Amino acid sequence: MEGAKTVYLLKLGELTLKGGNRADFEQILKRNLRDLLRGSRASLETTHGRYYVRCLSEGEAQVEDALNHLMGISGWAKTRIAEKAIEAVCAACVSEAKTLFEGGVRSFKINARRTDKSFPMDSYNIACRAGDAVTEALPELQVDVRHPQGTIAVEIRERAYIYGFGHKGGGGLPVGTAGRGMLLLSGGIDSPVAGYMMASRGMKIDAVYFHAYPYTSEEARQKAIDLAGIVGRFSLGIRLYTVGYTELQMRIKECAPEAWATVLLRMAMMEGAERIAKIRRSKCLITGESLSQVASQTVENITCTQSRLRIPVLRPLIGMHKDAIIRKAEEIGTYETSILPYQDCCVLFSPPHPILRGDPAEANRLYDSLDLDELIEKAVRESVVERCGFPGNGHVC
Ligand code: ATP
Ligand code: MG
Repeated sequence: MEGAKTVYLLKLGELTLKGGNRADFEQILKRNLRDLLRGSRASLETTHGRYYVRCLSEGEAQVEDALNHLMGISGWAKTRIAEKAIEAVCAACVSEAKTLFEGGVRSFKINARRTDKSFPMDSYNIACRAGDAVTEALPELQVDVRHPQGTIAVEIRERAYIYGFGHKGGGGLPVGTAGRGMLLLSGGIDSPVAGYMMASRGMKIDAVYFHAYPYTSEEARQKAIDLAGIVGRFSLGIRLYTVGYTELQMRIKECAPEAWATVLLRMAMMEGAERIAKIRRSKCLITGESLSQVASQTVENITCTQSRLRIPVLRPLIGMHKDAIIRKAEEIGTYETSILPYQDCCVLFSPPHPILRGDPAEANRLYDSLDLDELIEKAVRESVVERCGFPGNGHVC
């Protein structure tokens, strides 16, 4: 790209471990990145297995935002380009070191790699010379090859690339390499994280939110939409289906033993989600369940809630502790929205003494007696769809 000033270097993630079908994964990664870069006037270039994004300085914010939402890369760096001469390389390392120093880094090392063997110095000598240049210019910075606070990479290829702090990427695999999954998205902390985690394994995500208006508020619904917008940024958009389950919840409350209400509602949610999954050709359901976190998530109750399904339920958080889930929610930017006080499940419908170890046969007998089929069918038919977090669509719908 003529006049391009800034170059970003991407490090591929787990797809480098792929054998024969690595090319297919890379094709999808490139397509995803191009989608995310749409409108930025940035260009993507791939040479020698490396990915470079070039843009003008005014496009930097969009490029960095795109890279922060791209699954399938383990990291990215903003690079300085220098002439292939050791003096120019040293000068660029000193500039990079100053940036690191200003960011609080006090120890560093140089990682040099030379793929262009015609360059007259080997990697070790490049690292020594550049390291000396940095400590001479910035005596406050110490060399520490074992546990450096910052690393400056020097790569001598068709040009010399110098970069410092690697930004962490989403990792995992490109979205679109693992089929489609239907996320049961509540307004809580867990399910958005579950959706993110499956997207990071390459799954394209759709979502369903069960609403009990007016017992749950419009704000609660908006919260689900906002969360779908945030998670959708990582999965090239989410189609969110909002399904009204008020009538159904009333039926359960009126006709079923109180202690069973939550398990029966979850069974009905799973069934509604499976019907929408079928429409979308999704291969599985995804939930934010974590073993024994609440009464409905004991292994026995999980057995009940999935017992009518023909497609699998993926539960990426099943063995995670709450503090780790919260850290992940903070990292991906859903936490602040998830803790807004609008309840997605009305206390009116939550029994004070829920059943802890439901028997699946009993659960199904009760469920059948409620005759929910038509109510589910109607709720699914009347569901409302929104497109959330699609590239170029901003943060939310
Ligand atoms: P979360 O933080 O995701 O709400 P939770 O700890 O509150 O989870 P539950 O309320 O038992 O747990 O819900 C378990 C899972 O069921 C959720 O992670 C989500 O996948 C799904 N779920 C619960 N309520 C809804 C809803 N209103 N709409 C869609 N899915 C829901
Ligand atoms: Mg919840």
